[in-house]
Amino acid sequence: MLGLSQAELGSAVGCSQSALSRLENGQIDAISEEVAQALCGTLGIDPKLYQPNEVTFCCTNPTCPQSHLYLINGSQVACRPWTMKAQADSTPHCPACGGVMSSSCLDPKCRAPLVPGHAFCTKCGQPYAEFPRDWKQPADPKKIVIEHEQNKKRFNPVQS
Ligand SMILES: [Zn+2]
Ligand SMILES: [Zn+2]
Repeated sequence: MLGLSQAELGSAVGCSQSALSRLENGQIDAISEEVAQALCGTLGIDPKLYQPNEVTFCCTNPTCPQSHLYLINGSQVACRPWTMKAQADSTPHCPACGGVMSSSCLDPKCRAPLVPGHAFCTKCGQPYAEFPRDWKQPADPKKIVIEHEQNKKRFNPVQS
């Protein structure tokens, strides 16, 4: 690499030679995000190409102030969950509501990876958000959606 030894490259970007050696062996988390950016700069690589194992997670809480509720056929409540990127092996919590986030279908028998922008698993049809029992056949589905919109405004009055 540029005629530099690992030790020289390491001191140029601010990490140890052993970390670079682990990185070269495929251990992508051996270096920090900052070192990764510096490394891309030194080696002339577009930092956007460096994606350390990130996948999309969604908030499984349907009443999250970031989730989008809507009605299907006027009778069924659906939730397009809020999504964000995080390390594949992490267990992030939603910054908006503190809820559990998931990168896959909630059905333990399916576990298909999340498809961003969808409300339901594209493989088995299970909602990505964990619905309360009384949402499956709600007496007044419209009310659930309207109340959710009101809660969102309360959470972030500037945006809406
Ligand atoms: Zn949330
Ligand atoms: Zn599924």
